[in-house]
Amino acid sequence: MKRRIFCVVLSVMMIFSLLVPSFAAEKKCNCGKAPVVSVVGFGHVPLVNGEGTQVFAPEAKTIVEAVLPCVPSLLQYLSDGDAGALLDAVIPAAKQLFDPIKCDENGDSVDPTVTVERFYETSCDTYDYKIKGDGQDGLSLECAKTVGGDHTFIFSHDWRRSPMDTAKDLNDYIQKVKETTGHDKVSINGQSMGTCIVQAYLAQYGTKDIKNIGMFSGAFTGLEMCGDLFTGKLSVDADGLTDILVQAINGSPDKNALGELLKYTGLFEKVIEKFAPLLNEGEYKDRLYDELLIPYFGMYAGVWSFVPEEKFDEAINYMYNNDTFSFRPSDSYIEKLTAYHDEVQETLKERCDEYYKDENICFSIVSNYNRQIAPVTPSSTMNSDGIIETYRTSYGATVADRNTTLGENYVQAVNDGHNHVSPDTVVDASTCAFPECTWFIKNLDHVKFYSDSSAALHAWLITADKQYTVHSNPLFTQFLYYNNDADYMSVYLDKYGDVNMDGEIDLVDARLALRHLLERDELQKVNLQRADGITIDGVITKDEVQSIADTYAADYKA
Ligand SMILES: [Zn+2]
Ligand SMILES: [Zn+2]
Repeated sequence: MKRRIFCVVLSVMMIFSLLVPSFAAEKKCNCGKAPVVSVVGFGHVPLVNGEGTQVFAPEAKTIVEAVLPCVPSLLQYLSDGDAGALLDAVIPAAKQLFDPIKCDENGDSVDPTVTVERFYETSCDTYDYKIKGDGQDGLSLECAKTVGGDHTFIFSHDWRRSPMDTAKDLNDYIQKVKETTGHDKVSINGQSMGTCIVQAYLAQYGTKDIKNIGMFSGAFTGLEMCGDLFTGKLSVDADGLTDILVQAINGSPDKNALGELLKYTGLFEKVIEKFAPLLNEGEYKDRLYDELLIPYFGMYAGVWSFVPEEKFDEAINYMYNNDTFSFRPSDSYIEKLTAYHDEVQETLKERCDEYYKDENICFSIVSNYNRQIAPVTPSSTMNSDGIIETYRTSYGATVADRNTTLGENYVQAVNDGHNHVSPDTVVDASTCAFPECTWFIKNLDHVKFYSDSSAALHAWLITADKQYTVHSNPLFTQFLYYNNDADYMSVYLDKYGDVNMDGEIDLVDARLALRHLLERDELQKVNLQRADGITIDGVITKDEVQSIADTYAADYKA
């Protein structure tokens, strides 16, 4: 009898022990704040091989080792213009850099051990490394202020794979986040290439597990530059090279004395003239494509997601149905590329309409402008965030080319009763696919999410309780201004006198102008333009500064 009771007790205990984990899994969190999953962009987390060596981005030492042997051929080329000999040196050097992450004709990694350096398996509050405060980390820090670090997650991925495949891993990740946090839905944002993965996820799994959706500095409508590259359009632009150099040195894209000097010397025109045969002449350009671009970059399915929808067929024909080139991928690889094109790109507008109309989802797009993109294709005159054209990241804004405006007499393309033209007349958001939920940040670099400044907008959107628009919050109007020197983001009001661009005109601005007058402070040209609206080309005269100071002195007395 005793033995029997013991058996019954034991069985009951066993049944309970089996039930315990399922009780734990059904634990609900009632905080009311959906966890946030941020999907990082291209190359944001390095790729490593099985031995733990970083293979992408290549380390400086590896680059130097590959590039140094090219120097004699380069010098030779500059004296005799033998482009063939230069390519004989440059192509093997580039291959040396990309061989460790090469993909085969199916788009699979030749070295199967290559993967991302880290998967963010747990929530952000458990990270044992220092969060830097920019990139995905800055946005996560900012989101954690609202939803908590234990509700903030980062999803990393191998950018070489098709977003269709990566989306399957993202779905597994979302299920895990739901389980560990005890929430039914998560908010999801993509950053740059991350937006392609988020869209591939939404196309395949829908929004049943999703609260808010953010497209930040997004590649989800493609890159004009990639469309050009994959259809054989190369060209280098001297003004663009000047701007990119100034941007690299100053942090800010606005031209200064260095830029003027470079333009004056015509240095880049001379360099480009020298290298023109490589880009324009059939034989050499064909070698670049046949030996490098097609077998290496063309075999990254992830990179194909950057080709805009309307250029896809032309790009496939140019790269793979072209008798000039010998490399051919497998049929299954083409099918993989076509699947992203058909299922994600072609359904984009229709799906995004649904997200925008769903009153439980806050759907938002954030796009930056006024930075120079790499000047290697004819589209590099377009305004951008430094990596992707603003026309693309904004899903259709009308944007003036770099260093130009839409014109003084410009009239908004679509009159919907609101103003959608930026104060500098560079952006007309009325032609965006979603003009009411697309924000613009002037001067901010691609995927720069700074905690305590620029990321405040993105965090506000992704943790929203309903659909916010550009009219919802006076702090986050459609056009925002990022001050690179001060790391400060403010409403873009174009207020004269607002020297430090904090949206207020006060004694701080007056003090800055006066200190400048006394030659104690350097002020950027753009700050001074805002000081009292005078247009200053190049050199700022003493008289101009005096007039600014007088204005403030008068205000101060009043
Ligand atoms: Zn919660
Ligand atoms: Zn409107």
